[in-house]
Amino acid sequence: MPSSYTEVIDKLQTKFKQGVTKPLDYRTQQLKALYRLCKENEDVLVKAMRDDLNKPYFESVICEIEFVRNDIRGMLINLEKWAQQEYTSKHILLTFDSSYIQREPYGVVLIIGTWNYPIQMTLSPLVGAIAAGNAAVVKPSEISPATARVLEELLPLYLDKDCYKVINGGVVETTELLKEKFDYIFYTGCSSVGKIIRDAANEHLTPCTLELGGKSPLFLDNEVDIEVACRRILWGKFINSGQTCVAPDYILCTEERQEEFIQVAKTILKEFFGENPHNSGDLARIVNKKHFKRLHKLMASGSVAIGGVCVEEELYISPTVLINVKASDTVMQEEIFGPILPIVPIADVDEAIRFINDRDKPLCLYVFSNNKNVVKQFLNNTSSGSCCVNDTVVHLSVDSLPFGGVGGSGMGRYHGKFSFDTFSHKKAVLIRNFIPLLEKLGALRYPPYTDKNMEK
Ligand code: NAD
Repeated sequence: MPSSYTEVIDKLQTKFKQGVTKPLDYRTQQLKALYRLCKENEDVLVKAMRDDLNKPYFESVICEIEFVRNDIRGMLINLEKWAQQEYTSKHILLTFDSSYIQREPYGVVLIIGTWNYPIQMTLSPLVGAIAAGNAAVVKPSEISPATARVLEELLPLYLDKDCYKVINGGVVETTELLKEKFDYIFYTGCSSVGKIIRDAANEHLTPCTLELGGKSPLFLDNEVDIEVACRRILWGKFINSGQTCVAPDYILCTEERQEEFIQVAKTILKEFFGENPHNSGDLARIVNKKHFKRLHKLMASGSVAIGGVCVEEELYISPTVLINVKASDTVMQEEIFGPILPIVPIADVDEAIRFINDRDKPLCLYVFSNNKNVVKQFLNNTSSGSCCVNDTVVHLSVDSLPFGGVGGSGMGRYHGKFSFDTFSHKKAVLIRNFIPLLEKLGALRYPPYTDKNMEK
């Protein structure tokens, strides 16, 4: 059924079919243009993210703009190598033939971004889509409207308007857009909408990547250096005020560790955000009232050991740690996605592993331990999109590692070469020869089939 976007998508399809986006020179030129966009408009992008989330300058530059620039640098260095044919092994009868994998772009891809990292989550997939030779529609999140507007204004000034389009809008527009037949859909956001996206993709048998969320657990062992661990945990939790898909959602540790953690955390939070975090310029705000109200309700779980201050008119929630939280508490029933860190006391490693395995497979698992056996136990007996040991969030900066979920936290992966591969179909190619002698051997396969054909 045609939608109000049919004409736009048809035009992109035509350009793709004409082969405009395929040459490596073209891809390189578009990637360089996107790089320039990020470089020349840093102030505009930082301001938009401040308007949407009060995102601190440092976080906007390092976690968003520089992240995308780094992605592009990696693509530019490796593009030629990654786009080459990949020769494969073959059996003896094909000795004089060639078999290889040829990466080809899917066509017109749809990238649906989310609001928490509105530049990174929208442009980083686009880098992969361009590098692999696709045309693309980018749909930023309406929940971060300032950034969405800036992207709509800037992208056509730098990228080829005939091959890359920004379409803004909310549920109505996205629903309409999803009626179209895309060649690939890359979605980032919550799981419930992920199901809607997958249903829409199924209508056209369109392959898709779903970058979803969930509750990422953190196990804190008794033996690790509590000060260093605490600093790394609090940074990963409160960056972007906890509105980070890979933020540690909750801590599992013994009751005695919980006590120590709270003592140290009080000092470190003062170091990070001063006596009164409300006055700190380094804390983002909650994205909107709906999320503020949702988070406010989660405070009722366990008891507040640190923070707990909520100022609705400023969408401010102070960095909060809840202690003695139970599995049945409200805060443990959904992804928190805000500056609230519950601690669920457990007796030992086995209980922690059981706790994790009783729930959806998380996007990330964090394990803080000096004990190699403990780390091995978690690695071998749990499943998660990724696992970072003795730190939080930083594994995302290793672009030689794939990033993505498993089970309820998503499907597909990207970053670095994985982005290039995600947006490329891997076509199997076999090129045969016409050598007469080998044809005689090969002729055994032709009918009429006689007993002779089967002789060994
Ligand atoms: P959101 O509300 O911005 O939605 C994401 C996108 O889906 C938007 O572009 C939006 O327009 C579209 N959308 C929303 N409802 C829709 C509908 N009914 N039909 C079609 N499209 C619709 O963001 P969100 O879902 O609140 O994002 C937060 C979630 O995203 C969290 O669960 C977080 O963990 C997850 N996330 C995951 C990653 C990752 O890389 N795995 C990164 C960031 C966020």
